[in-house]
Amino acid sequence: MSVTTRRDGDARPAEWTAAPPSPGGTGRPWAASLAWTFVRQVHGNRVAVVDAPAGPIELDADALVSGAAATPLAVLGADCALVGLASPQGPVGAVHAGWRGALAGVLERTVDAMRALGASEIVAVLGPCIHAECYEFGERELDRVAGRYGDSVRSTTAGGRPALDLPMLVERSLERAGVAPPEQIAGCTACDDRWYSHRARGDRERHALVVWREERARP
Ligand SMILES: [Zn+2]
Repeated sequence: MSVTTRRDGDARPAEWTAAPPSPGGTGRPWAASLAWTFVRQVHGNRVAVVDAPAGPIELDADALVSGAAATPLAVLGADCALVGLASPQGPVGAVHAGWRGALAGVLERTVDAMRALGASEIVAVLGPCIHAECYEFGERELDRVAGRYGDSVRSTTAGGRPALDLPMLVERSLERAGVAPPEQIAGCTACDDRWYSHRARGDRERHALVVWREERARP
């Protein structure tokens, strides 16, 4: 799995010219495939199962799972959490989780969908997203999220204002689903301009996290 950066350009399929952006370099297999499946994110908890490569295509969902090899799953972001999930049993998943989707349980539902496809061990990677120091958050909404996921999601901005710790919300959601904390956590979209940020810079472009199952499943 890999994440595009600002240098790769706008990852939205309508903005592709001849080829998809090439996270990790043009030699990577997903760079040669046009068959990316995207979500037309609805900020809810809908998970779509992708049976075969097709695309570029957008499905109305917030997360994608697939048990098929060579089927690039992509989610787009510019502050929201992008989470890649993989399993040695084969199934992979890609999740777009803003706070609303996370509160609606999109991560737990995606893990469930991967288990239904045969995944018993699941590892997670958290792509770039807005981090607490830059994510001032309304107290009422913060109470709602903390009411469900616990006070560890509460934080403060660099300026001392109430903030949501989105990476922690992802971690708590994965924990509920029985998945260990992300093995890698990328930086903050708002204070690192390698990525796009809607909040910090009003960017309309999006970077993508793409998940691709290269290997055959372990027998
Ligand atoms: Zn930041």
